[in-house]
Amino acid sequence: MTNKHHIIDRFISYVTIDTQSDPESNSTPSTEKQWELANKLVDELKEMGMQEVSIDENAYVMATLPATVAHKVPVIGFVSHFDTSPDFTGTNVKPQIVENYDGKDIVLNEEKNIILSPDYFEDLLLYKGKTLITTDGTTLLGADDKAGITEIMTAMQYLIDNPDIPHGKIRICFTPDEEIGRGAHKFDVEKFGAEWAYTMDGSQIGELEYENFNAAQAVVTVKGKSVHPGYAKDKMVNSIYIAQDFINSLPRLETPEHTEGRQGFFHLNNIKGNVEETKLEYIIRDHDKEHFEARKEMMKNLTSDICEQYETDCISVEIKDQYFNMKEKIEPVMHIVDLAEEAMKEVDVKPIVRPIRGGTDGAQLSYMGLPCPNIFAGGHNFHGKYEYVPVENMQKATEVIVKIAELTAKKYES
Ligand SMILES: [Zn+2]
Repeated sequence: MTNKHHIIDRFISYVTIDTQSDPESNSTPSTEKQWELANKLVDELKEMGMQEVSIDENAYVMATLPATVAHKVPVIGFVSHFDTSPDFTGTNVKPQIVENYDGKDIVLNEEKNIILSPDYFEDLLLYKGKTLITTDGTTLLGADDKAGITEIMTAMQYLIDNPDIPHGKIRICFTPDEEIGRGAHKFDVEKFGAEWAYTMDGSQIGELEYENFNAAQAVVTVKGKSVHPGYAKDKMVNSIYIAQDFINSLPRLETPEHTEGRQGFFHLNNIKGNVEETKLEYIIRDHDKEHFEARKEMMKNLTSDICEQYETDCISVEIKDQYFNMKEKIEPVMHIVDLAEEAMKEVDVKPIVRPIRGGTDGAQLSYMGLPCPNIFAGGHNFHGKYEYVPVENMQKATEVIVKIAELTAKKYES
C-alpha cells in the first residue's frame, strides 16, 4: 500500500543528516545540528498539507492532521525522536541497500573487514528475501529513530492522499534528545492536546510495549583515612576495602548479566577510588514498584550496617529516581494497547507484547498526563555499526499507524 522506494528515499534523506545528541550539553536541543533535520521536517509537513505545523524554541516539531469524520473521536498522537545516540558516530552515514537478502553474511565494509553476520545476529534470518538498509560499517544507521519519523511522515502522507479513510484528529510530534533521556523533558503535553499517543521507537516488527523499568541512580561514597603506609598501623582506613565490602554484600546474581524478563537488578557501572575516598556508581532497575523500593531500601540499610561495623559514618549513599514504569498509567486505559494490538493483527503483524528492560520517552510522557505505549519502528542493533532496518518493517509500521487512526474513528462511531 505504501511505495517502498518512497520510504527508502525518505529514510535515507533523514539518516544522512547528522543529529547526534550530547549528554554533556545543557541546552535543548543538546546539539545545534539537530535543528537541520527539525527544520527540514517542518518544511515537509507544511508541503504535504499538514495543519498547525509548529516548531518551538527547543526544536519540538508538532503538526495536526484534521479529522475526516464528523463524529467525535478522541485526539490521538504519534511521537518519535530525531536525535541519534551519543554512543556511536552519526557523521557521514552512508546507507547501503541489500535487496532480496539471501540470509548470508553482509559485508558492510570490505576494507575494514566489517561483517554483519546471521551467525552472530540471528534476527537477520527473519528477513530473508526482504530489503535491508545497513551502514557502511563506520557509523550507526539512525533507524533509531528516523525509521519512526519515516513511518509517521509516510502514514500522514498516505492519509492525506486517501481522504476516504475515516479518522479523527491526529497530532504528531518529533522530539530532540531522547537518547540522552530528555526527549520528554520539554514536551508541551497541553499544547499537543492528545488523549493518548504512541511512540514509534521499538525495535523488532510486532513489538508493543507498555511496561518498562522503574529506574534510579545511586552514588555510594566511602571515606577513608590516608596515612603513610609505613606508619599506618591502627590509623589508616582504606576506603577501597570498605567499598569492596559494600559491593560484595549486594546480591551477586541480581545484575544485568544474570537477569531477564521482569527480573530487576543492581548494576555497578563505575568505580573511582583511592585510600582516602571511593565512589561507586550504580543504577537500580525493577519493573515491580515494591521490589524497586525494596532495592533502594537495601542499599540504605547496607550503608548503615557498614557504618556500624566500622564504627564511623564512613559510607553514605545518595539515590535519585530517574523514571517509573508506565504500566501504572497505562493499565487504567488498556484499550489504547488493545487498539494497537488489533491494528497490528489487521495488517498481519503478530503483536509481541513484552516488558522493556529500559525506559522510553513514552514512560515519562505517561507520567506527564499523556499515556503513551511504544510500538516497533522496525530496526535492529541500535546504537552501533551493525544497525539495520528492513524496509518491509517500516512499511508495516506505517500501516499500523494508519490502521490505529482508522480503528479509533470506528470505535467511536455511535
Ligand atoms: Zn529511540
